[in-house]
Amino acid sequence: MSDTLETDFLVVGAGAMGLAFADEVMRRSRRLRVTLVDRRAGPGGHWNDAYDFVRLHQPAAFYGVNSARLGSGGEDLASKPEILAYFRRVIDRWSATGRLRFMPQCEVGEDGAVRALVGQRTWTVAATRRRVDATFSRVQVPATHPPKYAIDPDATVVPVGGLWRLDRPHPRYVIIGAGKTGLDALLYLLDRGVGPERLTWIVSRDSWLFDRATLQPPVAGTHIMAQLLTVAEARDPADAFARLEEHGWWQRIDETRDPTMFRCATVSRDELAQLRRLKHIVRLGRVQRVEPDRLILDGGEHPVERGALFVDCTADGLQRLPPTPVFTPERITLQPVFVCQQVMSAAAIAAIALRPGDDEGRNALTAPVPHPDTPGDYLRCLSTTADNLLSWLSVPWLTWWTGRNRLSAAAHLPLLRRVALVRGLRAFAGTRRDRMKALVEG
Ligand SMILES: Cc1cc2nc3c(=O)[nH]c(=O)nc-3n(C[C@H](O)[C@H](O)[C@H](O)COP(=O)(O)OP(=O)(O)OC[C@H]3O[C@@H](n4cnc5c(N)ncnc54)[C@H](O)[C@@H]3O)c2cc1C
Repeated sequence: MSDTLETDFLVVGAGAMGLAFADEVMRRSRRLRVTLVDRRAGPGGHWNDAYDFVRLHQPAAFYGVNSARLGSGGEDLASKPEILAYFRRVIDRWSATGRLRFMPQCEVGEDGAVRALVGQRTWTVAATRRRVDATFSRVQVPATHPPKYAIDPDATVVPVGGLWRLDRPHPRYVIIGAGKTGLDALLYLLDRGVGPERLTWIVSRDSWLFDRATLQPPVAGTHIMAQLLTVAEARDPADAFARLEEHGWWQRIDETRDPTMFRCATVSRDELAQLRRLKHIVRLGRVQRVEPDRLILDGGEHPVERGALFVDCTADGLQRLPPTPVFTPERITLQPVFVCQQVMSAAAIAAIALRPGDDEGRNALTAPVPHPDTPGDYLRCLSTTADNLLSWLSVPWLTWWTGRNRLSAAAHLPLLRRVALVRGLRAFAGTRRDRMKALVEG
């Protein structure tokens, strides 16, 4: 039997992006209703499955939803329990108004019907405004995505979360994966007192890393602008990467290698110093098979002592996905419209969705900025972010919103520096923007 539900927005997915969207709708209106549906039992999306010691990689000061602060400010990186409790409070607060209906352990099918995963009920949803797809990110975490390589039954392989439950030492820890999860696993083991000589790190691609100090409030608010000006002066992409490093935004573990990966992974200078203590880094491509005493990789074999613990950190957390228009007649598809700032993007899309206008105009303000995978992708992401910001500048309420919204790093700047930022952006439009476009497209 199917009941009918009436709502204004049907938001599919109660992860960080769905919540940031729903919150902005609730915050900006006193009457609009939102129905938020998720397969999971609670809000927070991938954070529910993440390893227990995960923290935000970037400051909590501009993470979460617009209406509620997260963390203690400054450089604080909220932990998984803090993030999940925060999202629960957000849901409870808005539910109490009677305008938000949260439907956990329910699924929205392609037909738009909501089905309870536990129990037999189904609902037909009449959304007077639109359906919002907040599932586009397809986040993968090691706990839910088994590795793609083969594993000998006698080898001991655990997902990264297994480190939290270890109760005996291993002669060697082999960390498979060179993304942020791999870095977290290495830093966790070093912090627990495992000597760097007992760690082996499998690196299929070296990565550029953001320096966290440059992403903290208040300086974070200026870094995109400063990077745009820097990149616009570069001769070619390689020169742009060198300048990003020279100015301290980018860093790398091994300064003799040219990284081929950039996915907005962020570490502090102290963490970088810890990672530079590692003695065994294996660069033989991707792992094909794990055996108790060796690894078989694309580029050859690597021997490992028996009793080693292999730690899988290979899930493709945030993938680079082909973009799709944000606004179509059937739905709104939440995607980043600002490089590596998913929650700020989702809130901006909500704010734009509520203003009068047509979808052509709304899409002109929200060109998707797919998550970068390579250093070259990052330059393209910067360029599209600049295009979006410049179009926002022509819409006074949106400029105001960006400067006042806690999810925007710019909002954490003192007023005069915010004004300077707007002036800087206007100065960037024109020759510098053209130079940047030529650089990323050439
Ligand atoms: C390890 C990690 C650390 C991060 N750290 C930061 C950070 O420090 N700062 C920052 O700004 N960003 C960070 N991010 C990225 C960002 O915060 C978001 O986490 C990212 O955008 C993913 O959130 P999401 O809501 O898009 O997706 P998800 O978290 O995957 O949520 C999507 C939800 O949709 C549900 N769903 C899917 N299909 C259906 C369906 N048919 N019916 C009902 N429900 C469905 C799923 O159950 C899921 O709960 C991080 C990401 C990761 C992976």
